[in-house]
Amino acid sequence: MTAKIGVLALQGAFIEHIQVLQDLGAETVELRQAADLQQELTGLVLPGGESTVQGKLLHDLGMYDALREQIAAGLPVLATCAGMILLAERLSNDDKVHFATMPITVRRNAYGRQLGSFRTHAAFGSLDAIPMTFIRAPYIEQVGEGVQVLAEVDGKIVAAQYGKQLALAFHPELDVAESTAVHEYFLGICEGN
Ligand code: GLN
Repeated sequence: MTAKIGVLALQGAFIEHIQVLQDLGAETVELRQAADLQQELTGLVLPGGESTVQGKLLHDLGMYDALREQIAAGLPVLATCAGMILLAERLSNDDKVHFATMPITVRRNAYGRQLGSFRTHAAFGSLDAIPMTFIRAPYIEQVGEGVQVLAEVDGKIVAAQYGKQLALAFHPELDVAESTAVHEYFLGICEGN
């Protein structure tokens, strides 16, 4: 069966996710309003962008409750950068949390101004080295019980998984010319692997 992946399309870098998921054979739907959430999805992408803006739009558009319920009920999620901030139960430098479905503590804009954006390669789960592009990125300061760390860069956790929620500090959708491994891994989760 073809996976049907909902991509939150309110703000930020969602088009690149749609492109690579389609290239890998998945069907995608843009989630722009509450009515878009009535269809059955096999997975969800929370893209990078600005988490404060995304969080506000989710409430203003009446999408927050339905999405949170589906994530909490086990809908597979690929959350990149701002998306990771939306999933975090705790933010160490912001009082406002959003879905708060993943027991991780995340620091926003964690690399400061000078290192705001950079690219590197690092191991991801069982994969040797994949490209990682960071843009005003957060990182994970602490993980709770049941969270598996998938990647670290310079001693900081930059990717983790909790059940079917996959959270990344970097932007794999910007490096698909070199590797589509993260999206393939996510589609594997959606297929129950
Ligand atoms: N700095 C953004 C935030 O705090 C995240 C950056 C990104 O998604 N590239 O929401």
